[in-house]
Amino acid sequence: MPIKKKKNQQPQRKNFQSPKGMHDSLPADAPYWEKIETTVKACARDHGFSRIEPPILEFADLYHKASGEESDVVSKEMYVLKTKGGDVLALRPEYTPGICRSYLEHHLSRHGQPQKLFSFGPVFRHDRPQLGRYRQFTQMDFDIVGGLNDPIYDAEIISICAEILSALKINTFTLKLNSIGCRVCRPAYNRQLQSYYKSHEKELCEDCKRRLATNPLKLLDCKNESCRKLKEKAPDILNKLCVNCSAHFKSVLEYLDEVRVPYVIDHHLVRGLDYYSRTVFEIFADGKEEELGALASGGRYDYLMETIGGHLTPAVGAAPGAERLIAAMKSKGIMISKKTQKRIFLAHAGEPSKKKAFSLLKDLRAQGIMVVEALAKESLSAQLKIADKEKIGLALILGQKEIFEKSVILRDLAAGAQETIPLEKIAGVIKKRL
Ligand code: AMP
Repeated sequence: MPIKKKKNQQPQRKNFQSPKGMHDSLPADAPYWEKIETTVKACARDHGFSRIEPPILEFADLYHKASGEESDVVSKEMYVLKTKGGDVLALRPEYTPGICRSYLEHHLSRHGQPQKLFSFGPVFRHDRPQLGRYRQFTQMDFDIVGGLNDPIYDAEIISICAEILSALKINTFTLKLNSIGCRVCRPAYNRQLQSYYKSHEKELCEDCKRRLATNPLKLLDCKNESCRKLKEKAPDILNKLCVNCSAHFKSVLEYLDEVRVPYVIDHHLVRGLDYYSRTVFEIFADGKEEELGALASGGRYDYLMETIGGHLTPAVGAAPGAERLIAAMKSKGIMISKKTQKRIFLAHAGEPSKKKAFSLLKDLRAQGIMVVEALAKESLSAQLKIADKEKIGLALILGQKEIFEKSVILRDLAAGAQETIPLEKIAGVIKKRL
């Protein structure tokens, strides 16, 4: 009798591939990743940010509360799972809610304020994969949390993103900036938006028709073609901002002018996540806006902490996305070459000397010497071919005779000249010769 396939049972795979929208980071891209990592970490250190890493899994309702039920990230894109214990957890679709949860749970408000926090890791969104849009991608999150809601912090966060792009040689980019107001001034703007969009209700997509009553600001972020067209004539918020929000925005611009970060004010820029207030921004590589989307984006989120059970806590943050930075670097022809490190090759001349070579390898590495080897290869010539492939000019060769004499051959592979050096002196000689 044929075995019945259980409901939801996965097909039996013979060949495996990575899941859709999730990618292997291969050795060829390692120099790009290293460059991004060192750049971002140096930037974090120079600006006084400390690393914080919340777990990849959080309770799903943290995101429902913080990012908003209506946001695409929560309503459509979150990977949710039920544990054996019955908890409903989500793979983080973004960093900010987890960082705020951690700030509250560990009473970081009792430490010096503001806390400058930095994270670097994978995030997950069940999005429609395409170039620059993946289901697993890597964010570098910078957040300034607590203290005052001083506009200088908004400018610092934006300036950090610009510094990272410049350090990666992505020098032609556009920073779009807006203020979406606060609890005082946004309700009036929302009403204005509602009345504008109501008169065009038939042209709206189904999502926007639904969101019109609950979250009209979201309509400005809709990617649907007909909603995008309507946005062009939608009222903008800048002349609806209250005095405090206007002053805050003006100061952000002045600080950016001061550090010579150019910007374009986009009166219709809003972000997909519910928690933003006042400053919002996105940065695009010139000529790649449609293709890649924003390279970095963020804004102020003064109300988030309150939404998840804390006190009102000023905060502002941004997240550049590593995969898009790499794509932008490649599209601009920015090559990252492997650093040429000073290395020596170690070879053995036959099986009995292999063990001794293995122990010499350990000793040299312990003294900080970078040694490349192919000890598993039998013949000396096969080993030296690897040295040639790796473009290493200096080799150590250990044979039976050398073991007996407690020495090793040091060969200049280009010139073919060689000399015998006592083992106890070899580390010093190599250091001088490399
Ligand atoms: P967001 O959390 O939506 O503000 O996104 C912050 C940054 O993450 C963006 O500016 C992108 O660089 C990156 N990003 C967002 N979504 C994706 C995605 N699906 N694939 C790759 N990178 C992404």
